[in-house]
Amino acid sequence: MKNLVDFKKLITMSTKTTIGWIGLGRMGIPMSKRLMNEGFRVMVYNRTKGKEAAFLGKTVSVSSSPADLITQNEVVIVMVSDDRAIQEIFTRKDGLLSAEVSGRIIINMSTVSPDISKKMATLCLRQGSQYLDAPVAGSVKQAETGTLVVMAGGEEAAFQRVKPILEHLSKLVLRVGGTGAGNNAKLAVNTLLGIMSQGLAEVVLFAQQKGIETEDLLNIIGNSAMGNVYLKIKGDAILSDNFQPAFALKHIVKDLHLASQSVLKSPLGETALKTFQEAEGEFGEEDIIAVIKQLEKEQIHSVVTAQPVRV
Ligand code: NAP
Repeated sequence: MKNLVDFKKLITMSTKTTIGWIGLGRMGIPMSKRLMNEGFRVMVYNRTKGKEAAFLGKTVSVSSSPADLITQNEVVIVMVSDDRAIQEIFTRKDGLLSAEVSGRIIINMSTVSPDISKKMATLCLRQGSQYLDAPVAGSVKQAETGTLVVMAGGEEAAFQRVKPILEHLSKLVLRVGGTGAGNNAKLAVNTLLGIMSQGLAEVVLFAQQKGIETEDLLNIIGNSAMGNVYLKIKGDAILSDNFQPAFALKHIVKDLHLASQSVLKSPLGETALKTFQEAEGEFGEEDIIAVIKQLEKEQIHSVVTAQPVRV
């Protein structure tokens, strides 16, 4: 094992810190952009070429591989789809771990399994670097405005070192335990997200069947104790028939599946997983709330359209 850096002795990160960013998807673009706007020098890498200049401007500093990126930057943040992407970025021929990574900190903000985090953290430690899992709650809008919620797992010293960077992306940065704890917290949060999304879709369809205007129902929910930002955003999406993905439906299938593999299962989460799996083939690339279209399809098969309630 290579000599480990005494992270406690190192000063915390300032805007002078250079950051390597991997993953320019729906979240990676606004998050990396935000760090640049906040004064950090950010170098980016994305598997599919061309996205860098298209989304971040012609002057963006681009790296040719994960290995090249980590060689040039003290801190590397990864925001990609899933476990498979993480495995590849870390361990492929020109992956992060093929380079000299001693003293580096890799922050994985993707929503992935605690198992892959433990595996990558062990490999990082062997090479004298640190790994933090730090997934986020919030979506594109929160990424743009720096109001995400970060839940981190890993060594306290490494966490303290990078916390000032993460604070530029979020309104709350919390370390919830050792490696993988951030992932477990995120799976709990997204289980609720799946349940709430299916719940909203179901009650909208139920009310429609009973002749109640969707707008009226959403207005009632919004003004009740259950009103919240998420239901408002997704309610508006339903009303305007806008299923452009902020959070792609296929990602909740991945997350509910990961949650379902853990020891403590959620009965409602399992039900939501089944529904979203059924929806994925047709609506996987659309927003999570496109689940309403799947439920509607099932309803058409099973229910004769009810007449509006007349009093
Ligand atoms: P996305 O738009 O689908 O982007 C995925 C990114 O991962 C792209 O940059 C893609 O590169 C890269 N990627 C996928 N497979 C790869 C591989 N094998 N090797 C290298 N790169 C790979 O996803 P997103 O919405 O930004 O979400 C990213 C993560 O954040 C996911 O884990 C998601 O669950 C989580 N998350 C998303 C939201 C949201 O609202 N969208 C909110 C919270 C958390 P290419 O450009 O080459 O395809």
